[in-house]
Amino acid sequence: MLSAEIIAVGSELLTPEKTDTNSLWLTGKLNEIGVEVKLKTIVGDDEARLEETIKDALKRSDIVISTGGLGPTEDDVTRQVSARAVGRSLVFHEHLVDELRARFRRWGREMPEINKRQAYVIEGAEILPNPNGSAVGMLLEAADKFLVVLPGPPRELKPMFERYVLPKLKAKAGEIFVKRRVLKVSGMGESAVDEAIAPIYKSFGSVQTSILFNKSEVEVHLFAQGDSDADAGAMLDDVAGKIAEKLGTAVFALNGESMEEIIGKMLTDLGQTLSVAESCTGGLIGMRLTDVPGSSAYFTEGAVTYSNEAKMRSLGVPKEIIEEHGAVSAETSEAMASGMRRLAATDHAVSVTGIAGPDGGSDEKPVGTVFIGYADKHSTRSMKMTLPGDRYLIRWRSSQAALDYLRRQLLKTPQ
Ligand code: AMP
Ligand code: MG
Repeated sequence: MLSAEIIAVGSELLTPEKTDTNSLWLTGKLNEIGVEVKLKTIVGDDEARLEETIKDALKRSDIVISTGGLGPTEDDVTRQVSARAVGRSLVFHEHLVDELRARFRRWGREMPEINKRQAYVIEGAEILPNPNGSAVGMLLEAADKFLVVLPGPPRELKPMFERYVLPKLKAKAGEIFVKRRVLKVSGMGESAVDEAIAPIYKSFGSVQTSILFNKSEVEVHLFAQGDSDADAGAMLDDVAGKIAEKLGTAVFALNGESMEEIIGKMLTDLGQTLSVAESCTGGLIGMRLTDVPGSSAYFTEGAVTYSNEAKMRSLGVPKEIIEEHGAVSAETSEAMASGMRRLAATDHAVSVTGIAGPDGGSDEKPVGTVFIGYADKHSTRSMKMTLPGDRYLIRWRSSQAALDYLRRQLLKTPQ
C-alpha cells in the first residue's frame, strides 16, 4: 500500500480562527483509492521549516501533497520552497502570465505585477490548471515519488485534485480494492469490546480495525483491502461475522445503521407497531424514530408527559403509584409503558422517566437515574440505569437505552 503525507501550509491554520479541512478531505479521497495517509503536518508561512518538512516528507512517504501558500503575496512561499526542497529551479511560463492577465481583464481589472510570481513552476513539474483561481498547482514525479503542490482554497483544490491528481495516483496505487464496514455495539464499554474482539481482528492481518466510543455506542470500524471488490468484501464479512458471534446481542448494527433504523427494520419484519411515552427525553425518542423514512408503517404515536399530572391524564398512570414510588421509579415507568400501549393500541410501547439534571437529584436517585419501561401484550417490565454525563448526554443516552431495551425485547418476540 502506498503511503502519503499531507502538508498544510499557512500560519492562519495554526490559530484557533482557521481549521485545516483540506487534509481531511484529501485523506478521504486517498483512502478510497487504497493510499494510506500516515502523517500530516501544519506549517506556518516559514521558509526554513517548510523546506525541512517537505524534504523529510519525501524521504519517508511515496506521495507528498502540500496545500496552500501559492498566493501572489510575500507570505506565500510554497512555490519557491518546494522547488528548493527538491533541488530544482523555478521556470517562468509566459503563457501562464497571459492567462492571468486575461482572467483579470474578465473581472475588469489590470493584473498586479506581483501576480507574475504565480507563473513560476518547478522545473519538470506538470502544471495543474486552476479554473477557479489564479494559482496553478504542480505535480512532480521524481525518484519514484510524487510531490503534489495544491492551492489552499478548498473550492480550488478539490476540482484540481479530482481531475488532474487522483487518476495518476490511482494508476500508481494499482488495482487495490478497499472496503469499510462499521459494526455498532451497545451496552458495553470500549475496552470491554476491545478485550473481547482483539484476538479476532488481530488474526486478520489485512483488515485494519479501530474502535471508538460515540456518545452512547461503541463503533468497530473495519477496513479491508483486497485484489478484487469481492475479495475485500469477503474478508470483511468473515471478520464481521466472527465479531458479531463473539459479542452476541450487544452488536446492534452490522453495516453502520443507527439504532432507530434497526428498530424500524425489526418492527417492519415483525409487522408490528410501537408507541412511546417520554418524560426526561422530551420527545427525543419520537424524533429519532421518525427520522427514519417510512417510520409511519410502525410508529403510531408518542406522548411527552413531563409533569406528574400529564402522566396521570395522558397515560392513565395511577396517582398512588406516583405518590408511593415517585415519578422516577420502576413502577411509574411500567405504568407509563402499559398505559401508552393500551391507549395507542400498539403491539409494543416503551417509556422513559429519569433525572437529566443538573438539579433534581437525591442520594437515593442521583442525576442520571433513568427507568426504562416496556410493555407488550404478554407483560410489562422495566430496567434501571444510572447514566453518566451532562444534561444533553443523559437525555441522549436515555433515548439510546430505551431504544436498545426495546430492541432486546423485540429480539425475543416470536416472528
Ligand atoms: P493560500 O493558498 O495559503 O493563500 O490560502 C488561501 C486560502 O485558502 C486561505 O486563506 C484559507 O482560507 C484557505 N486554506 C488554505 N489552506 C487551507 C486548509 N488546509 N484547509 C482549509 N482552508 C485552507
Ligand atoms: Mg497562505
